[in-house]
Amino acid sequence: MSDDNCIFCKIVKKEIPATIIYEDDHVLAFEDLNPQAPVHCLVITKKHIVGGNDMTPEDTIALGHMLLAGKKVAEIKNIADDGYRFVINTGAHGGQRVFHIHLHVMGGRPLSWPPG
Ligand code: AMP
Ligand code: ZN
Repeated sequence: MSDDNCIFCKIVKKEIPATIIYEDDHVLAFEDLNPQAPVHCLVITKKHIVGGNDMTPEDTIALGHMLLAGKKVAEIKNIADDGYRFVINTGAHGGQRVFHIHLHVMGGRPLSWPPG
């Protein structure tokens, strides 16, 4: 369920600090440490799922909660009306650096597309 060497599992267990925005039984949302937009938050599943390739049907509820918590974060951070971006980086080409699945919620300015 949890990986002792995973930084995001440590945040779930409150072993390292984070600025928490939202929490329920399945997910935790907090401020990104190195924001790339005026609003940049992360939503993680409490279960240690490594990344996109590791999602299974039994994770459906937790992953659904992750998306809905992203919507809540957008509302809490007042970017819902202007719009925002959800991003899930996966693997080397996806730019994933923390191997515990997370939804980036980014906004507060117009975001360019496509990513580099
Ligand atoms: P990714 O490249 O998709 O794996 O994104 C990892 C994200 O986690 C980056 O945006 C980092 O800034 C962020 N991050 C890493 N460590 C922490 C931490 N301890 N607290 C909050 N955000 C973090
Ligand atoms: Zn983890």
